[in-house]
Amino acid sequence: MTNQLVDTFLKKYNQQPTATYFAPGRVNLIGEHIDYNGGLVMPCAITAGTWLLLTPNNDNVIRFSSVNFNEEGTFPVQKRYTKTGKEWYNYPLGVFHELQDGEWNASGLDLLYFGNIPIGSGLSSSASIEVLTAFALNDYYGLEHDKLELVKLSKKVENEFIGVNSGIMDQFSIAFGEADKALVLNCDTLKYKVVDCDLGDYVLAIINTNKRRELSESKYNERVEECNTALTALQKEINITNLCELSAEKFALHSHLIADETVLKRATHVVKENDRVHLAAKALNAKQLDEFGRLMYASHKSLKDLYEVTGKELDAVVDFCSSYEHVIGARMTGAGFGGCAIALLKKGYEEDFAKKLTDDYVAKVGYPAAIYVHQIGDGVKKIAD
Ligand code: ADP
Ligand code: MG
Repeated sequence: MTNQLVDTFLKKYNQQPTATYFAPGRVNLIGEHIDYNGGLVMPCAITAGTWLLLTPNNDNVIRFSSVNFNEEGTFPVQKRYTKTGKEWYNYPLGVFHELQDGEWNASGLDLLYFGNIPIGSGLSSSASIEVLTAFALNDYYGLEHDKLELVKLSKKVENEFIGVNSGIMDQFSIAFGEADKALVLNCDTLKYKVVDCDLGDYVLAIINTNKRRELSESKYNERVEECNTALTALQKEINITNLCELSAEKFALHSHLIADETVLKRATHVVKENDRVHLAAKALNAKQLDEFGRLMYASHKSLKDLYEVTGKELDAVVDFCSSYEHVIGARMTGAGFGGCAIALLKKGYEEDFAKKLTDDYVAKVGYPAAIYVHQIGDGVKKIAD
């Protein structure tokens, strides 16, 4: 992989790269749509990701190119930048903008990116390129920001420079992920634990529905609203600031306060999904992968029936998985309405699974899904000088 990238770099910039960095993509294993209710998410980094090769230039410009895109950007070295339009290089440009907010001044640099994360499918290629750039610049110039600062800065780029209103889970897991480990993270407090997630005889299959996530933003906002309505209703009797402070038992004692049936369904998902994250962490600690898989299916069912964020494409994938002997758990991951599902698939059945799933999915949906097999990998890192 990197040898080919070095060749490309040489051809493009007529000089050798002097450092190479990698940042993964991420999936959320369980804990969906509860981060904005003070709940726990359980993301991990995956072995697909984005690479960055770089070297200084004497031209006092920043040059961006990517194997994945034709457009190339050249910018004079300056302290502040503004977004230029929809071009991809606004993501790393935003990082230069935010990092130079402090004392550091950039100097001429040639950068080449390559990613093998499917772009725009919910595996967070955007957070990958942000964290990658922030980490690389911090390391290359010896800036001494800690990882958490880089995570927050990358999130700021996504929220303010790019203008996408997303939480911190993506940048956090891409920075702090570890091979064969999952993170159990509270996105409000940023307290987290690392849990062993040795998949043993299984691999993480990622199934991209290839459905555009057009509904996800408006429905996302609607769900946030519904959760707020539930919280306000409950606060009449109990002193809580987040739905996820409630155990399922305590919620059952007070749920009569929620008059609207739809809102009640949403809140029920939130409370029970948060419980499932605790159970999932326990299952991993006890090396009970079957139990973990069962919780994945339960999470999907709840997102389908109670939270209503799945859609026929994600349901088709998970239905197939539940009928396929060598999968022990599957669920949608991310905001829903398209994007990706994940499945725990027995090693050795990758091809058979892909073929049978493809046939089944095409018959139900009319176009193919894409299937990738990954391991749980490391967070952002330097890979070569
Ligand atoms: P995702 O779900 O993958 O994060 P987004 O729409 O949030 O989808 O971000 C995708 C955007 O991130 C791309 O359109 C591009 O602008 C940028 N990007 C991601 N990976 C790369 C890459 N390897 N090279 C250049 N730009 C990238
Ligand atoms: Mg993104």
